[in-house]
Amino acid sequence: MELYKTNQLKIYNSLSKSKEVFKPVLEGNVGMYVCGPTVYSNVHLGNVRTFMSFDLIFRYLKHLGYKVRYVRNITDAGHLTDDDAEDKISTKARLEKIEPMEVVQKYTVDFHTILQKLNFLPPSIEPTATGHIIEQIEIIKDILDKGMAYEINGSVYFDVLKYNETENYGILSGRNVEDTIENTRVLDGQSEKKNPQDFALWKKADESHIMRWPSPWSDGFPGWHLECSAMSTKYLGKTFDIHGGGMDLKFPHHECEIAQSKVNNHVNPVNYWMHANMLILNGQKMSKSTGNYILPNEIFTGENSILSKPFSPSATRFFMFQANYRSILDFTSTGLEASEKGYIKLMEAIQKLNKIETSSSSSIDIKVWKQKCYDAMNDDFNSPVLIAQLFEAVKFVNLLIENKETLVAEDLEEFKLTINEFVFDVLGLQDEEQEGSSDKISGVVEMLINMRKEARDNKDWALSDKIRDELAALGIQLKDGKDGTTFSVN
Ligand code: AMP
Ligand code: ZN
Repeated sequence: MELYKTNQLKIYNSLSKSKEVFKPVLEGNVGMYVCGPTVYSNVHLGNVRTFMSFDLIFRYLKHLGYKVRYVRNITDAGHLTDDDAEDKISTKARLEKIEPMEVVQKYTVDFHTILQKLNFLPPSIEPTATGHIIEQIEIIKDILDKGMAYEINGSVYFDVLKYNETENYGILSGRNVEDTIENTRVLDGQSEKKNPQDFALWKKADESHIMRWPSPWSDGFPGWHLECSAMSTKYLGKTFDIHGGGMDLKFPHHECEIAQSKVNNHVNPVNYWMHANMLILNGQKMSKSTGNYILPNEIFTGENSILSKPFSPSATRFFMFQANYRSILDFTSTGLEASEKGYIKLMEAIQKLNKIETSSSSSIDIKVWKQKCYDAMNDDFNSPVLIAQLFEAVKFVNLLIENKETLVAEDLEEFKLTINEFVFDVLGLQDEEQEGSSDKISGVVEMLINMRKEARDNKDWALSDKIRDELAALGIQLKDGKDGTTFSVN
């Protein structure tokens, strides 16, 4: 067995507040659920950081050989700022005078476009809250039957104090049930809830509320916390391995998810709760509501006064991984510049790998270095330590090129493969210059194909054959079909 596999992966579990050896429910398989975006506005770079942390985790678990079912939802209904407010998507639809589903469509497309630019792997399932209203109603019925919720005026609320008599509301966030009152906004005398801690499972929609569904209690809509309980259980089972999200979702969102699922299924829903830390701008959490944020597209175009220049998606990705996902990360233009330089150095070293000549003996023990890379990632996905090891590799590459260090063929192959796997598969970086130049080559070949067509139309067979043969000599084969000419590169 390879050395790295004997080193176990450890994950920091927010529930036990310690690093634990990762043991999935089903050997070799991982179920992971991450709370997705509320699609009422463009994702900002802070949101992207959280999703990118889980993209890294998804990639590494896959790299280790696990079969991962990764579920990341789209919140397209029911995200209330508090239980007496309107949902964010309805508010936006009213403001923009469009249908709520137009709001949802617009910002879901934006979310996907940004993630694609940043080379995210798509999740295995991306379910929506509105697509799971029936499942949510079923859970509410069950919680009502078990006496842990009550109905008032067509709305249904979870009875937190009653739940807390036998269970621990606060198990994840570490708050006791009295503390949670202070964090719940109460409109004096206006709330219909029995206790301020109670949270909505179903809200009756008033006349003006556009997003509504029929239910046994009223025409209304589900509470925000419920969708994640419904969708995670449906696709991953009553108890699954990893549940992730940003730190700010720990309370009340995830605390409420635990309470709902415990009543519904009598078991703890999640074995490893993982929370990504915040991206900071100007000393404060990046946030849409305070206006303290930067959009990913502004990074790519450089159109924001905070930035000295535009930065590419891979430079942005590399910047995000300079801090461990559990540490806060301060966003600055100088930080991005430093990451860009590091990224370029790394790509240059990868280019040089093909120029290294093999020797009859190795002066470097590649396995020791490789093990350090795995140790970094096995220690709760410690990307900055992995990056430090990749820069050690950059140094080796330069010494190998100068023949100051040597590697036998087998070690060189292992070295190349390990760098490529960590840089491209695990960190998800792309060699943008190489990809850019292959786009240019495609453009040139297309141009020659058009010139050859013109030559053929003019019956200039000599020129047409010359273009085909000379491209073939370069390893580019032209193939004429009924839809035109295509090419392949050998
Ligand atoms: P939302 O669409 O508001 O539910 O947020 C989507 C995700 O982004 C959640 O997991 C949040 O915790 C996360 N998030 C929001 N602001 C930040 C930030 N400044 N840094 C990192 N993650 C954030
Ligand atoms: Zn959620």
